[in-house]
Amino acid sequence: MERRSFIKGFAGLALCPVCAGAAAAGEPHWGYEGGEGPEYWGKLSEEFRACAIGRGQSPIDLDHPQRADLPKLDPRYAAGFPRIANNGHTVQIDAAPGNRLVVGEDVYDLIQFHFHHPSEHRLRGRRFPLECHFVHRGTDGGLAVLGVLLARGRANGAFETILAHAPQQAGASAALTGLDISGLLPDAGRYVRYSGSLTTPPCSEGVDWIVLTTPVEVAETQVARFAALYPNNARPVQPRNRRILRET
Ligand SMILES: [Zn+2]
Repeated sequence: MERRSFIKGFAGLALCPVCAGAAAAGEPHWGYEGGEGPEYWGKLSEEFRACAIGRGQSPIDLDHPQRADLPKLDPRYAAGFPRIANNGHTVQIDAAPGNRLVVGEDVYDLIQFHFHHPSEHRLRGRRFPLECHFVHRGTDGGLAVLGVLLARGRANGAFETILAHAPQQAGASAALTGLDISGLLPDAGRYVRYSGSLTTPPCSEGVDWIVLTTPVEVAETQVARFAALYPNNARPVQPRNRRILRET
């Protein structure tokens, strides 16, 4: 319940409240290297304070989860993805209205998805070459992010479509066609769920994280092409503190 009231509070801020969203007007510059890197985010702006002092930050190592009876996931992303942007922090794909994630009885609207290289979450200590974040908003305004880990293997058709359309220049966007989103969603629906934060400034907490524990495959050459755009756009693992992880 605390999560819901907190999210309502920050949803009204001028800052872009979604993970790695396009920089909103007035947002201080931040990045992944040097004096604008993750260890300084909390000092760059008063609005970014949670990055430094938050006790429920993301990402984390998904280790020692508790077995739980969690609701079934049902991503319904058939409404399409009309636009792709290089926003200076990542490659982001905007969702058309009508894409939804159903979690038991709860329904979340998909806003966008984007990528991090290497993965932000670790799975029992293991880091993956890429992680995809599907960012949703619930009817109460709260955010839920579905994380998908990408492991080295066969070429991924969906990721190929994204690489072929992604603008090379930061700040540019383009139309996106021909994306078969199923290539980024593993068949197995097992996942770990915990309460965390945005992994980019303002690092707001109260984000409902759902990370699938079965990766999808991506070719090494595809990883390299993303890395040519973003050599490192992953926040380091944060302290878990006393948070409970639940796993299906
Ligand atoms: Zn993200």
